[in-house]
Amino acid sequence: MAPVIYPTTNLAATEQLVIDHGKGIYVYDTDGKEYIEGLAGLWCTSLGYSNAELVDAIAEQLHKMPFQHTFGGKTHEPVMKLAEKLKTMVPVEDAYFFFGNSGSDANDTHYKMLRYYFNAIGKPEKRKIITRERGYHGVTVAAGSLTSLPANLAHFDAPVEALHILRSDAPHYYTGRKGNETEAQFVDRIIDNLEKQILAEGADTIAAMIVEPITGASGVIVPPEGYYEKLQALLRKHDILVWADEVICGFGRTGADFGCTTMGIKPDLMTFAKQLSSAYFPISASVIPGWMYEKMVAPSAAVGVFGHGYTYSGHPAACAAALKTLEIYERDKIFEHAAEVGAYMQEQLRAIFTDHPLVGEVRGKGLIAALELVSNKTTGATIEKGAGGATVQRHAQDNGLLIRAVAGNAAALCPPLIITREEIDEMLRRLKIAVDGAYAELKEKGLL
Ligand code: PMP
Repeated sequence: MAPVIYPTTNLAATEQLVIDHGKGIYVYDTDGKEYIEGLAGLWCTSLGYSNAELVDAIAEQLHKMPFQHTFGGKTHEPVMKLAEKLKTMVPVEDAYFFFGNSGSDANDTHYKMLRYYFNAIGKPEKRKIITRERGYHGVTVAAGSLTSLPANLAHFDAPVEALHILRSDAPHYYTGRKGNETEAQFVDRIIDNLEKQILAEGADTIAAMIVEPITGASGVIVPPEGYYEKLQALLRKHDILVWADEVICGFGRTGADFGCTTMGIKPDLMTFAKQLSSAYFPISASVIPGWMYEKMVAPSAAVGVFGHGYTYSGHPAACAAALKTLEIYERDKIFEHAAEVGAYMQEQLRAIFTDHPLVGEVRGKGLIAALELVSNKTTGATIEKGAGGATVQRHAQDNGLLIRAVAGNAAALCPPLIITREEIDEMLRRLKIAVDGAYAELKEKGLL
């Protein structure tokens, strides 16, 4: 094997799929076998695999000026244009944008930005961040500690204690309910738990709470009706900022511009990446409101610099990719299309899988969804060692569909936003074969 340390991979495993090229929603391996990219790569290739306009926009920028940094008084047109454009789109008041390269570094930036802001206003003790069980926010030191998935913490001595991160309940009714608790009772209980935690810690020690409007890597959890309304009221009451991690939900994924719109969240801060450039060039953004920015100016002037920045912050080719992506989203009404075909995908998924013996829950919004695979449909009992997710993923791949097993036994779907109804039908046809095949195999192995 090539001497590559593969990310988020079992380093003891030897099987590899070598992907060679792509077109539309399809990718092809080196033997020419076709696969539907049912997860848009890693929840990111919103405009599919062969968008010549995007490639041309990036190439044009690379020819003109392949690099220009944005430190210490230098700037360039693409970064300024991108910030101006995004300002018209985001639900954050008088927004300012810090650009980075990945969702992880965007979240690390915000972790530091909050410290910088609260130090600037003379409240250095307001520094703790609340995250949720099953949250995924990346893998860098701060973002990795905000993440709650076991594999991202194990063997890394994470979470890092000194980062002052608090963990609260995952808003997943299906796996988190107690006895015959209703959804409303479940919401009240976890909100009440959070309030107790806030009071025990002291609200004046807590800066913000980070939430994925709909989670991705932890199994596409769509919180119950009323959860965000109560959560926001609680956070506002205790003067705790709402930080929306839109790295997966942002830009049309959930059937609206942002996951915050779909879920009724009014964020103070946002982070996004992935679909900002349709993944054609790495770029992320950390968004703050104008009232925060204004307070950050004085300490920066005192030291002579706001001492945070990446070499590639606002990389011109990345900005060109993002600008063209946003132009295509608007011109081709991609969010409206995603809402329309997303509703169809949700309806079809439920029609096909609700009664399947291997499926405990079908969930999702817009063009993001998951099947919760269970060993017992009535009790919702889980399948040992995540064998459900891995088996469905393998059967899907054999049948020309790339999906992702997440959180052990959830099979996640998140196709490119350009997918058509006919392509959804074909994707779900292949998925049904995979789920049936996995069911037969798991039964034979005595795992159900
Ligand atoms: N936040 C969320 C919600 C994510 O899903 C991800 C990546 N899947 C990240 C942050 C980290 O992004 P990246 O992998 O670009 O660092």
